[in-house]
Order: sequence, then C-alpha cells, then structure tokens
Amino acid sequence: LWQNVPLAPPDSIFKLTAAYKADTFDKKVNLGVGAYRDDNDKPWILPVVRKAEEIILNTPALDHEYLPITGLPEFTIAAAKLILGPDSSAIAEGRVTTVQTISGTGANHLGALFLSRFYQWSGDKKEVYLSDPTWANHPAIFNNVGIASLYYPYYDPKTIGLNFDGFVSSLKSAPSGSVFLIHACAHNPTGVDPTRDQWDAIAKIMLDKGHYGFFDCAYQGFASGDLDNDAWAVRFFVDKGVNMLICQSFAKNAGLYGERVGALHVVSPNKEAAERVKSQLSVLQRSEISNPPSYGARIRDISTMAGRIIDMRKELFKILTEELHTPGNWDHIVNQIGMFSFTGITPEQSKALTEKAHIYLTVNGRISMTGLNRNNIRYFATSLDAAVRG
Ligand code: PMP
Repeated sequence: LWQNVPLAPPDSIFKLTAAYKADTFDKKVNLGVGAYRDDNDKPWILPVVRKAEEIILNTPALDHEYLPITGLPEFTIAAAKLILGPDSSAIAEGRVTTVQTISGTGANHLGALFLSRFYQWSGDKKEVYLSDPTWANHPAIFNNVGIASLYYPYYDPKTIGLNFDGFVSSLKSAPSGSVFLIHACAHNPTGVDPTRDQWDAIAKIMLDKGHYGFFDCAYQGFASGDLDNDAWAVRFFVDKGVNMLICQSFAKNAGLYGERVGALHVVSPNKEAAERVKSQLSVLQRSEISNPPSYGARIRDISTMAGRIIDMRKELFKILTEELHTPGNWDHIVNQIGMFSFTGITPEQSKALTEKAHIYLTVNGRISMTGLNRNNIRYFATSLDAAVRG
C-alpha cells in the first residue's frame, strides 16, 4: 500500500527552524520564523495574556465545554470590532458574519472553501489572484478547495517598493468579478503596503470591475504599531462597499501562535444575506472542525478587555500629570491592576464630581476603569482636576 504516495518535501520555514535548533554553534541566529522573540531570543508572553491566563485559571465557571460552532460570541464580536472598528456601520447593520477559526490559516481555508462552494464564478473556472510574491501557504490553501492561483504584480525589485502600475493593470485586465487576495497590512513577505491614495485607487477599480476582495490580515498592529491605523484599508474598502471577506489572525499580534485564534468575517450587502452566509459557514465549519478551540479565544477576549483598561490607566495618568499638573500623586492609577481604581479623592470631591460634572462613582472614590474610553477620558480627567482643586 501507498506505493503511489510520493515523498513530499518538508515545509521550508519549519525545516529552517529544525536546522537552527539542531545547530550547536554558539552565535547562531534564526531569522526565518515569523514569531516574536525578546532581546534574549526567547518567546515572549504578553503581560496582558499572562493576566488573562490567571483570570481563566481562577474562574471556575470557565469549563471545557464545547463552544458554539461559530465560536465564542464575546470573542467574535470583539474580533469584528477590532478589525472593522467599534463604530462600524456594517456591524451595526448586521451585515457582518463572523466565525471563529483555527487562526489565520483556518480563516483563509474556510473563506476559500466558502467561495469555492458559493461564489458566483463566471464559467466553471475557479481562480484567485494572489500578490507576487505572497505567503507561501496561500496557493496551497486555495488549491485544496479547487481554486487555482494566478498572480498579480506586486513587488518591484528595482524600487524595492510596490509595483503599483502592474497591480492596477492586473485589476483592470482581470475579468469582472475576479477574486483578489489582498494583504490588509504589513505585506508578507515584502513588508511593502500601498499608500492611502493607492488604496483609494485600488478600491475604485475593484468597485468598477465588481471584483471580490479576499483580505488577509495576519499582522494588525505590526505595520504602524496602531491597531486602528493598520485596519484603515479594510475599513475603507468596507465603507466604499467593496464586496469582501477578511481573514484575521491573532497569532502574531497577541503572541498566541500555538493556540490557533482567528476569525473569518464575511461582509454582506444586507442582514438577510449575512444570515444565510452564516448558516452555510456553520454547516462547513461543523464538518471540518465541529467547534473551534475555547482556550485561546477566551485569552484573547479577556486580554482585549485588560489591554484597554491598561491603556486607559496610562492615558488618565498622562493627562493628570503631564497636561493638567493636577495636585497630588497619581502613580497609583498606573500601579493598580484590574478593573477598579481607588482614586484617593475625598467623599466631598467624589460628590462634587457627580453633582457638578455628572460623573457617577461611589463616594469612596472608586472608579471602574471600564467606564472610561477614548471619548470621555479627557472630560473625566479635567473634571477630576477641577474637583481636586476645589
Ligand atoms: N496570512 C499571512 C499573510 C501570514 O503571514 C500568516 C502567518 N505566517 C497567516 C496568514 C496565518 O498564520 P496563522 O495560521 O498562524 O494565524
């Protein structure tokens, strides 16, 4: 048996890692694998992930039951908001179907499988346009579901930049309704992204030609250090009404490589279509993996909350100390951990905040950090400053 099975070559990246591990040279350096290492070349667990893990360990209600087929709802909602924006009208209109997947690879697979089954292909050819070059796994993933790969020019070795003209002419010459795989940000392997003007031009042609955008977002936060900034192109295309889906990975930006945390978001023209899409994605997911893994999704979900709270603490501290020079010491704002903060203000000051500024907090001066957000933090800080000064 298996006489007909040819020996396949090992995966090039993982082969590189194995060779690195086997090497005994003391100055060896591994620049192959795309996983973050600290200054001592050790894998790094984000402090916020550590904290989330502690919370999970200490919460008996977090058992090992199956998740719903489409994933942990708190996670899928948070994941959609992270990529599409907290105020996304597509989400508000119920046009986004999100399914939790086996990291970015699983999202690419499920997205490709869904298109293979349900996309309105013209003729009987199923083809996807990939950037030249692209992540080595892309052609294999599409090939597995019967979609052939074509390539659009992307990288220009002469400028070590984007071959924008080549990209545009491919978009223009491809048959209407073609599927284009687009790296949402921090293009792998070139690190070259279009500018906003170029994205604008790309979106216009995609709309004109009725092309479908298969966005792969494996590095949100890595291009500019800012999650919203790195989601700009995706949000722009959604706002313009380009038909599209988004594959999202939390391997890199949450350092959860091995936990396989990801999501597929399909943006539909209306809520009713989104519901039908969801029903079919559930059917596909059921036969493929039944239920996505819970541990990583919970970590990611709790980390999101904890991360936002940590950001709010830093921001509040900065406004009070650097901008307003509010009397007193505010170190405790950043040193305390968790959801609540004891501001250290007197009951009178606390009452004044409620009566004069309509800010509601317990008289002992305790505030819930989760009530603060980017829109109200400045108002709170200036009101607190006024209350403290009397
Ligand atoms: N897409 C691209 C472009 C990638 O570079 C990667 C990771 N190398 C992925 C998707 C998926 O990775 P993962 O399955 O680990 O989330």
